[in-house]
Amino acid sequence: MFTGKTALVTGATSGIGLGIARHFAAQGANIILNGFGDAAEIEALRAELARTHGVQVRYQGADMSQQADIEAMMADVLAEFGCIDLLVNNAGIQHVAPVDEFPVDKWNAILAINLGATFHTVRLALPAMKAKGWGRIVNIASRAAYRGDSPAHWHYAASKAGMVAMTKSIARAYAKDGIYAFAICPGFTMTGMAEDYMASRGGDKLLADIPLGKVADPEEVAAIAKFCSLDAPPSMTGAVLDVNGASYVR
Ligand code: NAD
Repeated sequence: MFTGKTALVTGATSGIGLGIARHFAAQGANIILNGFGDAAEIEALRAELARTHGVQVRYQGADMSQQADIEAMMADVLAEFGCIDLLVNNAGIQHVAPVDEFPVDKWNAILAINLGATFHTVRLALPAMKAKGWGRIVNIASRAAYRGDSPAHWHYAASKAGMVAMTKSIARAYAKDGIYAFAICPGFTMTGMAEDYMASRGGDKLLADIPLGKVADPEEVAAIAKFCSLDAPPSMTGAVLDVNGASYVR
């Protein structure tokens, strides 16, 4: 159980992040729910999570592309809870455009959210984790980190590969402090993002590339995030876990 622990899950208002927030709350963690969305829907979600699991749930709407927003969020959370014991860097975006037409501002924004935000949350969470001698960091990367991606997704693959490398460095640096880090690399996962993607790629053709015959569920990714944070033996720190139905076996 995570009773008495505090979890920050970025991008937790939908999809994979919401699945992770639910799993962590079910284990008794207080939840900091970050992400965008309709204010009333987020409040309903926040209240439901708190009521169902008897934990504290705070909403933090920081824009993870903005360093100042991230710093303000981290300062607020640390002031209230003392430590972010469980940190899940999940917020991520993509933009589909050929490389030779790719808008530079989109490149900067995507690198800032998918990679830069992880640097900021980790560097700001580390001091309290080190003082406690305990911390778990789970970074949601992508199959694209290893396999690469289409010419319209260079930026995405590059950002996720950076996230994997960063995870390994964190694991190596802080294992001695009781802080363990993991990266999870989902393939297509049935969230809004994947549905759009599947539709744009013709659905069935995409499934033909997945030996399992189905895209992953957010629940599957969330179960792995919980395992990494709760059950994984210490020697697993630094591991990168694939969730892709054997569509890319490395
Ligand atoms: P999603 O679109 O369902 O959710 C993304 C979340 O991030 C939402 O809560 C959104 O509000 C939030 N978000 C977006 N921009 C933000 C910003 N600037 N600041 C704060 N929050 C922001 O996406 P998902 O499919 O659940 O993806 C979650 C993660 O999993 C991403 O990092 C994505 O790259 C990765 N991933 C997804 C798939 C897939 O097929 N769904 C595959 C591999 C990896």
